[in-house]
Amino acid sequence: MAHIRIIGGGISGSILALRAHMSGHSIDWWKYGRPSASLAASGIYNPIVLKRLKLVWRAAELARCAEQFYADTNALLGSEWAAPIPIWHRIQEQGKINDWEAQSADAGFVDFLGLIHGKKEVYGELKKAGRLLVAPWLDEVEQFMAQWHRVKNQKWCVDEHLDGTTTVLCMGWKTDGLPYGIPENAMAPVKGEVLTLRLPGYPHSDKIVHGGVFIMPLRDDLYKVGATYSWDPLDERPSDQGKEWLLEQLSKLWPGPVEQVGHEAAVRPAVRDRKPILGAVGGHEGLYVFNGMGSRGTLLAPLLSQWMLDHMFHSVPLPSEVDLGRFSE
Ligand SMILES: Cc1cc2nc3c(=O)[nH]c(=O)nc-3n(C[C@H](O)[C@H](O)[C@H](O)COP(=O)(O)OP(=O)(O)OC[C@H]3O[C@@H](n4cnc5c(N)ncnc54)[C@H](O)[C@@H]3O)c2cc1C
Repeated sequence: MAHIRIIGGGISGSILALRAHMSGHSIDWWKYGRPSASLAASGIYNPIVLKRLKLVWRAAELARCAEQFYADTNALLGSEWAAPIPIWHRIQEQGKINDWEAQSADAGFVDFLGLIHGKKEVYGELKKAGRLLVAPWLDEVEQFMAQWHRVKNQKWCVDEHLDGTTTVLCMGWKTDGLPYGIPENAMAPVKGEVLTLRLPGYPHSDKIVHGGVFIMPLRDDLYKVGATYSWDPLDERPSDQGKEWLLEQLSKLWPGPVEQVGHEAAVRPAVRDRKPILGAVGGHEGLYVFNGMGSRGTLLAPLLSQWMLDHMFHSVPLPSEVDLGRFSE
């Protein structure tokens, strides 16, 4: 099978690397710098926009593919960092409970919207969701890939390293300039902050609870609580404002004790039209981008990595919604 060079060691690069490995390609994987967005991510994959009770673009296909990909790669890696987990969405108004019940009978939603739970505090159960514990998973993917392929700690640089080898840039949002190959006006990066908290006595350790923020169980009484969305300043510094907002939202879901363990901030590689960016970089033989995963890298990348390989090695056209070429039309 063909050789491929992958640049970037975040969620996008790691999922593409695993996918390429499973398809039998030989790989040079250049990982350089801290994949800050991926390390900050709670790793939740969920095919519903909960605020508006809408399906994500291609929800059924993405959810099916993510479920299969994480089952396959858990088996390959011999670990369980990815796992299905229900999300309980807090519903506060009778009208919204009625909407949930009506919509859960709709053919498009029947696989995703589950039962309503509770009387005083009411939650709608979301099915087909899961979470990837990103930090330990990234380490494990690196160790696994190093047994089979060349993994190096090297920065890819257009002037030095453009040589016709099939090369995929999975560079996320960069602090030192725009990701190479993507037009300047295409990206619309979004800062996000997340807290790691100890919540002694918190009762929902077997599910993710959502209501303004997500409360996601890590282990024992440790939880991730996120996330904020902000644009100014666009930096990777945790802010007091972000922390206060997260704690205020949390207090509506959990009035009990809270002990801060961590606070992270990073920038999501989001795109102006809210779709990822895949495809060939014009004028450079063999050069491609795989980027723009926004706030849903764990849901999107399993399916999109397959599209990327099919496109590069079997000339299968990319769906126009994600094709890099859409920005030059
Ligand atoms: C607070 C927060 C919470 C989030 N929660 C979730 C969530 O629950 N679920 C979810 O799916 N998503 C979530 N996201 C979004 C998720 O983080 C992104 O979708 C995902 O991490 C993007 O991964 P990436 O690999 O494209 O980018 P990154 O993680 O930024 O990785 C890119 C890598 O490429 C490297 N790189 C760049 N240039 C070069 C170069 N020239 N040479 C070599 N390497 C290079 C960078 O150093 C970096 O390591 C969240 C994001 C934030 C900020």
